[in-house]
Amino acid sequence: MLSVEEAIDAVLSHASVLPARRASLREALGCLLAEEVTADRDSPPFDKALVDGYAVRSADLEAGGEDLALSVGEEILAGKTPSRPLGDLEAAAIMTGAPMPEGADAVIMIEDSDRQGDRVTFQPRRPIVPGLNRMLKGQEMRTGEVLLQPGDELNAVRLGLLATVGWTEPLVIPRPKVAIASTGDEIVPPDQVPGPGQIRNSNATLLESLSNASGGEPSLLPIAPDEPTSLRAILEEGLKSDVLLITGGVSAGKRDLVPGILEELGVRAIFHKIRLKPGKPLLFGVGPKQVGGRISPLVFGLPGNPVSGVVGFLLFVRPTLEALMGRSKTPAPTSLIPLGQDFSHRGDRPTYHPCRLLDREGERVLEPLNWSGSPDLRTVTRADGFATFEAGDRDYQAGELVGFLPLL
Ligand code: AMP
Ligand code: MG
Repeated sequence: MLSVEEAIDAVLSHASVLPARRASLREALGCLLAEEVTADRDSPPFDKALVDGYAVRSADLEAGGEDLALSVGEEILAGKTPSRPLGDLEAAAIMTGAPMPEGADAVIMIEDSDRQGDRVTFQPRRPIVPGLNRMLKGQEMRTGEVLLQPGDELNAVRLGLLATVGWTEPLVIPRPKVAIASTGDEIVPPDQVPGPGQIRNSNATLLESLSNASGGEPSLLPIAPDEPTSLRAILEEGLKSDVLLITGGVSAGKRDLVPGILEELGVRAIFHKIRLKPGKPLLFGVGPKQVGGRISPLVFGLPGNPVSGVVGFLLFVRPTLEALMGRSKTPAPTSLIPLGQDFSHRGDRPTYHPCRLLDREGERVLEPLNWSGSPDLRTVTRADGFATFEAGDRDYQAGELVGFLPLL
């Protein structure tokens, strides 16, 4: 049986970056850019006023002193262009963002002005120097200048810049499409009242949310019964995605049909068990599609118990999604944190145990929760992550360092 570390290596060695494609600005949020972006025009496209006020020739005011009155010429609103150059000893009323009239080199804020009819005087709080409250054409960017590079992450600000330059269909590494199939005769949708022997489907919602939070684009397949024909049809549909997550039906039970059907559908199993608790019967397979050295999809069969699904997702699926999106190929980040109390671990596999992360007089410590095992999702709602304990029975002392895998 593989260790967690060996299993992560095996998974990541099959995860290659998705082919770049064009996306809308809305779709591109969080994606990595796959091309250079350049400015299509100067910005600002003209010398512009940065405040509401009066465009003036600074030299007029320098020569004329404080009490000089200028005559008010035209009014220039944003979106309009000045009809003529500024005359001598003239001021143009101008609004923020409007083009400066030729000859003007400064704007005095309206708050610093006193207008009487068509005359205006100023009580400026800052010296009226050339360039005051004016932005020059091309000061932000010049036509053809490279603004963003391949590999830059498209956050809100960068998407705003793409909009500025009209780059509305950037070439990006897309979000991986994640199909989610829940299996089990006993599983009913969350909005139904379970009959005798039935339970609601918690995994689909759980994995959909985890996928969304990890940059994937999830879609839910119908609940598959433990019956080969329907199960095969649903899994076959799921194989069209970049990643297929299946929950349930992968262990050694009588109706655990998933491994056999995946094999029939051409998925090559890479491993089917890991030294891990919870989540030992975790299956990872690849294929059947192979395009240009890329094998697709990547298939994860997660055990049906919800907490096994959470741990399996954090350890294996999330790093896979990051690799497909062109980010670094690295295992889930863990840190070493002292235990806040004694803890007695019993078990023959490395264990991920839900815990809280507490601040005790400035020091972060882990408090393992009283947990009933992999079906007990409720306890995990109070957890900040999972403390990791090695295989083998052992009594840990408060203050000992243990691994910590954070929840999303
Ligand atoms: P399995 O891996 O199919 O043997 O399922 C293991 C346990 O997880 C069983 O108790 C199932 O009822 C439960 N289980 C399976 N699928 C789900 C699901 N989608 N939501 C909640 N529990 C599930
Ligand atoms: Mg089952």
